[in-house]
Amino acid sequence: MTSQKTTQDPTAKIKRFFASSQHSTPLLVIDLDVIAANFEVIKSGMPAADLFYAVKANPARPVLERLVALGSKFDAASVFEIEDCILAGAKPSDISFGNTIKKPADIERAFKLGVDLFAFDSAGELEKLAKLAPGSKVFCRILTENAGADWPLSRKFGCELDMAVELMEQAHALGLVAYGISFHVGSQQTDPGQWETALSRTAWVFSELKKRSIELAMINLGGGYPAHYRDDVPDFEEYAKAIEASLCKHFSDNRPSLMIEPGRAIAASAGVMQTEVVLVSEKRLDADRRWVFLDVGMFGGLAETMDEAIKYAFRTEKDGSPSGIVAIAGPTCDGMDVLYEQTAYKMPLDLAVGDLVWIDATGAYTATYSAVGFNGFDPLKVHCI
Ligand SMILES: *Cc1c(COP(=O)(O)O)cnc(C)c1O
Repeated sequence: MTSQKTTQDPTAKIKRFFASSQHSTPLLVIDLDVIAANFEVIKSGMPAADLFYAVKANPARPVLERLVALGSKFDAASVFEIEDCILAGAKPSDISFGNTIKKPADIERAFKLGVDLFAFDSAGELEKLAKLAPGSKVFCRILTENAGADWPLSRKFGCELDMAVELMEQAHALGLVAYGISFHVGSQQTDPGQWETALSRTAWVFSELKKRSIELAMINLGGGYPAHYRDDVPDFEEYAKAIEASLCKHFSDNRPSLMIEPGRAIAASAGVMQTEVVLVSEKRLDADRRWVFLDVGMFGGLAETMDEAIKYAFRTEKDGSPSGIVAIAGPTCDGMDVLYEQTAYKMPLDLAVGDLVWIDATGAYTATYSAVGFNGFDPLKVHCI
């Protein structure tokens, strides 16, 4: 038996699909019913919030269409994602252009398409918005600590609080609707307590602006809600509870409207990747570990294994037989294409070339991270069922 815990078992639907015929690997299969179930868990866990699915997690057309049918709204990072959402049936007024770094031509295009909700975190971006999306609703992203996040988002996004106050005042002066504040506490955030810090910072910005007669209407709670990979994570309910407690504490009398932007928590557990063992080898005659090379790696969709940040759960067709420590790597000729060497993974000792290996909870941040033709390998194939 492999030592690591697997995630929630793949659904019967996914098992049937893989068993039904031979598939060339690697292949990512997405169960749309799991997308829907995850949407419902989050929606009912936090009914007061408007759910904007973070499209970049998995923009496959059937995923977007299913979410449109469920009444989801969408957080888009580019004009291309906006167009994808519209093609999938989303109303432009249900799309937020959430990237703080946008080309002028893309802002103009989004605005013409009917998008009227935009993120920013700098004076330069605000100027673009005032000129190319006049009268739109804008929200300012503030910096947050990404402590507790397995996939932190760095200082690339957001500004300090005093600057947010100045910028929102400017937004108002420029004829935009100074609408709200957003933050992102870091992706795969394992500590529900992180929203407290972010919300207390948000409350400060709200009160400073109120002193200047600007009443903000909205808080965007961002994404960050984790998926269950190899290690246990708190349930969504715990995040909802922690956030509710912080909202009561900081916004008791005057509750603004809420946006929430889950990506990973909607898409990850819906996907299972089927891969194949290309080689099992050792580096020395008396080696204490084997190297298992799969036909998918860092460049085939598993980019989030960088620095072994996201620890996926693997299953093999030989699970149950005696196992030993392995390093796991991808098939390309790039030295970086190693998934796990420090993290202790175990796989069956009788694992052999051609055996199938399944990687669970790979529905988010995989297919879109796969390279086009690196070393001649095709990008990851995706099939939605
Ligand atoms: C990526 C992103 C999200 C989604 O984050 P998850 O950790 O996948 O939930 C939400 N909002 C913004 C602005 C993002 O960039």
